Amino acid sequence: MTQVRTRFAPSPTGFMHLGGLRTALYCYLFTKKNKGKFILRIEDTDQDRYVEGAVEVIYDTLKGCGILWDEGPDIGGPVAPYVQSERKDTYLPYAKELIRKGHAYYCFCTKDELQERREAAEKRGETWKYDKHCLHLSQDEINAKLDSGMPYVVRQNTPTEGESDFDDLVYGHISAPNETLDDMVLIKADGMPTYNFANVIDDHLMGITHVIRGMEYLSSTPKYNLLYKALDWPVPEYIHLPTVMRDSKNKLSKRDGDAYYSDFIKKGYLTEALINYLALVGWNPGDEREFFTMDELIEAFSVEGLSKSPAIFDISKLTWFNAEYIRRLPPEKYLKMATPWFNEALSGLEIDYHRLAELMQGRTEVFNRIPEMISFLKERPEFDTALYENKKQKSSLESAGPALNLSKNLLLAVDNWTEENIHQALIGGIKEAGLKNGTVLWPLRIALSGLLSTPGGAIEIAYLLGREETMKRLDSAIRELP
Ligand code: GLU
Repeated sequence: MTQVRTRFAPSPTGFMHLGGLRTALYCYLFTKKNKGKFILRIEDTDQDRYVEGAVEVIYDTLKGCGILWDEGPDIGGPVAPYVQSERKDTYLPYAKELIRKGHAYYCFCTKDELQERREAAEKRGETWKYDKHCLHLSQDEINAKLDSGMPYVVRQNTPTEGESDFDDLVYGHISAPNETLDDMVLIKADGMPTYNFANVIDDHLMGITHVIRGMEYLSSTPKYNLLYKALDWPVPEYIHLPTVMRDSKNKLSKRDGDAYYSDFIKKGYLTEALINYLALVGWNPGDEREFFTMDELIEAFSVEGLSKSPAIFDISKLTWFNAEYIRRLPPEKYLKMATPWFNEALSGLEIDYHRLAELMQGRTEVFNRIPEMISFLKERPEFDTALYENKKQKSSLESAGPALNLSKNLLLAVDNWTEENIHQALIGGIKEAGLKNGTVLWPLRIALSGLLSTPGGAIEIAYLLGREETMKRLDSAIRELP
């Protein structure tokens, strides 16, 4: 059996779209599962869209995600170069071969001429496709135009009768009447190939056995297959993937900040969680498992598990995965990753980050939610004294006053401000006073934090705040009592 060879072929736009990343992931999983070679090819023939540093974004994202290529621009390989702009002389000879064989032709129509004919067609209520105007030029006319240096493009000459069909491994049998296929441009006026041409030439020359890409290319694939056939090349297998959507109607969008890999990393999603979840957006392992390492994904991956219905990227499900991955981080790693977010909320304060990290790790769903959860340590928010009321904790507005005064006295007696000592002083004193823990600790936590829900309880918060700040907050809470 021939060795499986696949490629991920991003255009360097400066961002990695989640849909693109998922394509790369499935390509990688499929290839590794089949012990093949995974190739990275940069598709930069659209020079107008050149973005500085964009190729690095592709490298860094894939590497960061553990999607590693066997051949590519930076590491070379047997069919180098792997950047299309460096292959620009490759394509024209094939276009000329197609012209010789009658499967392509020179087109000299100007933009204005095309525009005019398009408008006329639309007026007649027809959908415009190129009208094969230049197909009918005589060889002498063509030569004269070429000799005079007239700009030209090369177009595919699609048949006007019959059908083109193929079998996609996800979408099944696809067939298109040839008359609906337009004579797409293969070589542009600047001499560069279009994506439509370059993908065919490069996939063949690079020995690609399986083309794995987004389904937006499904409808053009019959045209690509006509090119393979015209060049007497075998047609690869196709695996088209459904679009990654936010919901059944909307795509992920740049504006909503949910389209790019970097959007999620900036917010504090973990790459491992994102990859794990992304793998499941459009693919089903066939069992109940949800958590996968990359090796487990490779092991479990199969084309049969791919779905052709739109793939919904559910951010709340991703967040659930993320929280779980954060919970499983080694504590030192969590502390390291959380520190910048702690700093954002607490800059200038002396707070035991170690202890804070212990309290926060199990509650962090996404790192960017940390500052909001801990900003009360910097400044106690205003709160309503009704918060003291809590039946279950046996706390009421009336019991809060004595409870806070008791807390104050007990805490004043703490010599060395450790969590252990605070614990002993409070719990011991509450017992001695014959009260329930909740009656004292509930109002104390409210007084110190101003919040109904906090990471850690009264004791932990008192410890984190330090003696001085704790006393200050207690005093003002006592003053604020009705
Ligand atoms: N350069 C194309 C894109 O970024 C690749 C499509 C393909 O994989 O053939 O969408």
